[in-house]
Amino acid sequence: MSQGEFDIIHQYFDRPIDVEQGVTLGIGDDCAILDIPDGYQLVVTTDSLVSGVHFFDDVDPYRLGYKSLAVNLSDIAAMGAEAKWVSLAITLPSIDEHWISEFCRGFFALADKYQVQLIGGDTTKGPLSITVSAKGIVKKGQALRRNGAQPGDLLCVSGPLGDGGLGLAVKLLIGNCDKVDNQQAFIDALELTEPRLLLAKQLVNFASSCIDISDGLSQDLIHILEKSQCSAQVELENVPLSEAMKKQIQKGHISQLQAWQFAVSGGDDYELLFTVPADKIAAFKQLLNTQVVSKEAVCYQIGKITASLASNQQKETIEHSASSHRAITFTHLKQPINLDKAGWDHFK
Ligand SMILES: [Mg+2]
Repeated sequence: MSQGEFDIIHQYFDRPIDVEQGVTLGIGDDCAILDIPDGYQLVVTTDSLVSGVHFFDDVDPYRLGYKSLAVNLSDIAAMGAEAKWVSLAITLPSIDEHWISEFCRGFFALADKYQVQLIGGDTTKGPLSITVSAKGIVKKGQALRRNGAQPGDLLCVSGPLGDGGLGLAVKLLIGNCDKVDNQQAFIDALELTEPRLLLAKQLVNFASSCIDISDGLSQDLIHILEKSQCSAQVELENVPLSEAMKKQIQKGHISQLQAWQFAVSGGDDYELLFTVPADKIAAFKQLLNTQVVSKEAVCYQIGKITASLASNQQKETIEHSASSHRAITFTHLKQPINLDKAGWDHFK
């Protein structure tokens, strides 16, 4: 790109930094310089979004800017960390000022909400792709990992599941999704996810493990079960569905079973999935109900961690069962339900 083109880009990305947020030196030198408070650790995550693979070529640039940051902040939340800084590498086929300004508007809308500082990045010319690396801080030794779940722990999620998956199905015109009305609500759920950073702040004192749901409840739960060497029971009647999703069931546009399939396998919800020891759950829920904690921080109990798998044979079962959910028992009103056989293959 020509120098003039770089000037245009910098005009949008080069914003004043906030020294109070631990940035000694931001954009404009070879590296940024960041201050990590004493007693804290740095957590770092990186995600790439490629046009035609992770998003549609004609995606609204505001939403792309928003979501490319949101998925990274969701990973920071999943560690129980506080998001602080972000770097952004963007590859653009050409300079379209309107597109760039809209992308930035979406990106910074979310960055500003959580006081996340853009501290550097790179701009190149080529097929459209976005790589974001978010950095957060967490008190030493307190980061929430996937390996801490214990039998008896309660399994919880931070919000309704399935809307993101249905939004994607609607966009891809999959299955019988043409019957779904109020489609924009589901597309919004797909494209404007809220990273659960406010909940993460509270979770750090209560949860034994945590992950964010990017690939679907069952896939991401398997990651916790693998690392913690446990099994789990998920009570489908307690898996939260949005009001919009419930309306589609009431109107007969999708079946209850399909709604569960979206909730369990759909992905793109970016809610947190976490475990809380049974003796801590009451205090945790009480805390969430206080005024101090944001209304956005909620906890739905959807099941429990059931048994530790001791033998290697059982461990192997978990490792090879990501698609068949054998380490997870799904129940409805205490009756086991086999979601694999239950239909709705269209979504795959
Ligand atoms: Mg993740």
